[in-house]
Parts: sequence; structure tokens; C-alpha cells
Amino acid sequence: MVSFRTGKDSLANNSRVTNVVIDDFTNPERFASDIWIALYGKGNRVDHNTLLNKGNAGVTLAVRMNTEASRENEHIVDFNYFGPRQTLGSNGGETLRIGTSHYSREFSNTTVQNNYFDRTSGELEIISSKACGNTIRNNVFFESQGTLTLRHGHFTEVNGNYFLVNRKPNTGGIRVINENQTVRGNYLSGLTGYRFRGALVVMNGVPNGPVNRYDPVVNSVIENNLIVDSDHIQLCAGADAERSAPPTGTSMRNNLFMSSTNPNLFTVYDDISGIEFENNVINDEIEAPVSSGFSRAPYFLVDGESGLREPDPSLLDQIAFGHVRLPVTKDQTGADFYPKTDRAALFGSGKAILVPPGVNTLLAAIDTSAPGDELILEGGGSYLLTKFASIRHPLTIRTDSSERPVIRSEKSTFLFIEDGGALKLKRLHFDGAESPDLYGNNVISTSRYSMIKNYSLIVEDCLITNLNVNHSFNFLGAYKCTFADRIEIIGTKMENITGSVLPLNKEPENLGIYNVENVVIRNSHFVNIQGAVADNYRGGTDESTFGPIVTVADSLFENVGRGSRNQSDASLKFHGVQLLDVSNSTWIRSAPLALFLTNGEPITRIRDVIMQQTPPIKSNNDGYEVQGISYQ
Ligand code: CA
Repeated sequence: MVSFRTGKDSLANNSRVTNVVIDDFTNPERFASDIWIALYGKGNRVDHNTLLNKGNAGVTLAVRMNTEASRENEHIVDFNYFGPRQTLGSNGGETLRIGTSHYSREFSNTTVQNNYFDRTSGELEIISSKACGNTIRNNVFFESQGTLTLRHGHFTEVNGNYFLVNRKPNTGGIRVINENQTVRGNYLSGLTGYRFRGALVVMNGVPNGPVNRYDPVVNSVIENNLIVDSDHIQLCAGADAERSAPPTGTSMRNNLFMSSTNPNLFTVYDDISGIEFENNVINDEIEAPVSSGFSRAPYFLVDGESGLREPDPSLLDQIAFGHVRLPVTKDQTGADFYPKTDRAALFGSGKAILVPPGVNTLLAAIDTSAPGDELILEGGGSYLLTKFASIRHPLTIRTDSSERPVIRSEKSTFLFIEDGGALKLKRLHFDGAESPDLYGNNVISTSRYSMIKNYSLIVEDCLITNLNVNHSFNFLGAYKCTFADRIEIIGTKMENITGSVLPLNKEPENLGIYNVENVVIRNSHFVNIQGAVADNYRGGTDESTFGPIVTVADSLFENVGRGSRNQSDASLKFHGVQLLDVSNSTWIRSAPLALFLTNGEPITRIRDVIMQQTPPIKSNNDGYEVQGISYQ
């Protein structure tokens, strides 16, 4: 969109881009990568711009250093509003990147200051600093998933930044890698992320590694930081056979850690004798990572004058933090003429529209609906679709009656969720009796084409029957290059299905790309399902993403997954799921629960499950927790 050059050797110097808006200017191919603002040359400034809703892969703003004339550039990126960026579900969703691994031992000397990062949640790295000599100071990170990462390069300063995330999932703070880094006077509040997205992460490195791997942390300083109500500080993170070099010559001093949520705030993965701890303060409940260098105080935080959580002033003095005060407000950032209001409609935010039973009455109501509307069907009414129905915005379909309306379709898919669409279904009966005698039908399908807006699908208190006119009739058909933020099946019964319920396995190339972030299956009953109820696939070794995150609870699986066409050979199959919780559920005469634990340290908990006439859990390794499993 904006490039600080007119040709490979014609670079802009001492130039400025200000008061510009780029909103949702997104390549329709999700994984066609592009950059919105590319800085080349030297002495340039990007300020007071509003950049939001980038849906495809590629960094929002990048500082390029590919020729000598773009290094030691002294660029300034300030007072910009980086608005919401959805989860990409792949590497390549960074909001700001300085340099690349190739030139990472060169100096960029870029300053990023007084910017507001509002829900910039594309991937693990909100900011990826990949060069030497940068300054990242006085920025605010509001409810953004991911971290500020000092990925490559040395001599970078991270000072006075505020992370305010209200305990949203996958929220991290500052990740320290490389030499001579300074992390000083930052305020981090309410961060829940673990592993690489902890509130503060000091990584292990690769001894004498190539430029694209992790350099060890050497001679770095972490001081005067205030970390409150956060869950994880990770020291020597990522330690493994390759990342075998722990930090050296590094100090952590005058930091205050106050948290009531996790007494095991610190996790130490390797030898931390190369980190000197001095005059840090922790509350009484927290376990200190080492015996010296920490003093204790009672847990005590109040909402200070700034509206932010802060400790007693004497402790602020003790760690030389100064006042708790936002360095920049949302209003002070971005283009002055452009509002920062969210436009995305939520379920139920529109009109309630009564839809009479009949042929294509539902289709007509869908086609004339507006974002957020609720279509209210008649209790016990019969609704037939003879054409494809396309959902193009968030829409709820439900009844107010205790008797479910029945929806049938003569087409191979009842409802398509097209780009921008999202669907909530409540107390409905979908029946396959009128579906065509074709294999591969679906009740719901994503777009067949690349989707650049993430969708949600909520199925609550529904009945799904007779998806069996031919083989491979799925409840959900998902296509490649589509991504769901959330899929929930709650209080629902599904029976007599020849295909799968949630086949979310359409990115098999092991590139770290996947189809869904959050899946919840709760209080539901599945009977006579030939395919799998869930088949989630997240392959590859890339570590840039958060999910998939899956919960299965209070559910019954009866004769599930034993069809000859079920390639997963499982009732539920989870490959590369990062956080899996299975509880209080029963399997009867079903294919096994299958796990493939890979990529990082996935957390897998299985408790209180009964397997009747069902083979044992299949897994590639035993890295999962089981509590209360009964085979009968
Ligand atoms: Ca990345």
C-alpha cells in the first residue's frame, strides 16, 4: 500500500506518512502475503495513522533493511493506532516487524513510540524486532494476544510500555532473546499467556547458531518493571537439545511481581545461574525462582488515580518505577478524522424477524437480513430450502417455542457461511431426509473460496438427524483457507450421520496453518456417526500461533467413528492441538480418542471419562495427563 521507495535503488529519505487510514484493505486470498506500510531508506517517520482489520497474511508495518541504504535508518514510528487484527492461524500475522533474520546483526536504530496496539492478535509476535539498536518505548498494548518479541538483533531497549489485557487468553508481554537488551520500567497487567506468551519470557538460545535461530540471552538487563495479576514468567524458555544455552551475564533487578492467580508464577526450564537477581519484590504467596534477590510483601493492589492496578507507593519507590500512568491514550493516536468504533456486528445485535414456515421462506429471510439480526422460526414449523442459502454476516436462527422447527434442504449444502458470515443456531432440528442422493453433502459449509474474515459457528440445543442419504454426509464442511475463531456444539443431539461432524483438517501441508482456534463440545450426544465427531489438524513445527484450543465435556459418544470411510480411525482426533481438555464424557462402542501431541509443549488433560467397548486412547506419546479413566 505504502512503500518508501519508487524502485529497488530509489529509496525515500527524510519523508513522512501521516494521518492516513488503511482499513480492511485485505487481499482476498488469505495466504497471499503483503505488507501495508514498508519503510525503506533513512530518517523516515510514520505517525498518526490508523491501520486496522488486516485479514490476510503479512506484516501490517515493516521496516526493511535489505540494502545498506536502509540500515542505521533512525526511522520513527509514533502515535499510530494499530486497530484490531484477527487471529491469522499461521505465522505471518505480525503487526510490526523491524528487519528480518538475514540482516539481524545489522543496526536498524528504529524508534517505535507512543503507539496504541488495540487487539492486534494476528499471531504470537505483535512486534517482532529483528535487528540491532531499536527503541520500543511508551506504547500501549490493549487486549492484544501475543508478545513484544526481541526475536533477533542486539542492543534494543524496551522501556515504559503498558500491557493492559484484562486477563484475555493468550496474552503475553515481553520476550527476551539475544544480547545487550534492556527491558526497563514496563507495566504489565492481567496477562494470562503461558510458554512463549508469558508476561515475561527469557529464552534459551542456540550456541553459535545460524542467524535465523535463537541467539542466547547475554548481558541483558530487566529492571524496574511492574508485573501484576499475571500468570507466567518463563525463564530459560524453549530449552531443548537445540536451544541449549541458558542466559548469561544477565540481571533482573528492582522488578515487582504481584499476583494472586498463580503461586507458581515463575517457571525455570534450565540453569538460571547466569541471571543475577537483586532487590526484586514478590508477594507472599509466590514461589521465588531462587533463594536470594527477592523480598516479600503482602498481595495488595488498588485502582490508582490512572484507573490502573497499582501497589503501595512505597513499593513503587522501592523499585524506582515512578508513577503508574498511561504513556499515551487511544485518542492521542491515529488519524484525527477517523473514528475508532468497532463495526463488527455481534450475534443478537440486530432486529428479531419472524419467519413463517414454508418453501424458501427461510432463504428469503436470510437474503434480506442485516448483520446481527435474529430470524425467529415458528415452533414445530417445517422449513424447506430448495436453493443454497448464503450467510454473509453474523446471523442467529432460532425459535422461541419449546418445539423445534424442522429445516430440510434439497441442495447438497443447507447453509453456506460466506466471507464475513457467522452463524448461531438455537433450538432447531436439521434433518437430511430431503437432501440429494449425493456423497459429501453438508448441513453447514464454509465458503468454497479463501475467507479473509474469521467466522464463528454456535450450535445450541439443536437436533441433527438422518444425514445418511448417501456416504460422507458431514455436519460441517470446511474448506482450505478458512478459519473459525470459535465453533461450539452445546446441548445438542446428532444421530445417523454417514460423514463427520467437524472435519477441521483441511491444511495438511504441515506449514503451521490450521482451520479453527477454539472448539467447544459440551453436554451433547452423538449416536451412529460413521466419521469422527472432531478431526482437528494442526501440523508443522512453526511456533507462531496459539491454537487450536479444544474443550470436550459432559458428552456421550455412542457408535461413533466406526465407518469404513473414516480415515481418522477415531471418534475424535486431535493433531497438534495446543490446549485440550476432555472431561466427564462417555464412549460406547466407538472408535478411540486419538491424540497426536506435537509442536511445543501442548497441554492435554483427560479426566473422568468412561470407555465402554471402546479401544484405549491412541497417542504418539504419553505427554498427556489422565485422571479417572475407566475401560469397561
Ligand atoms: Ca512470526
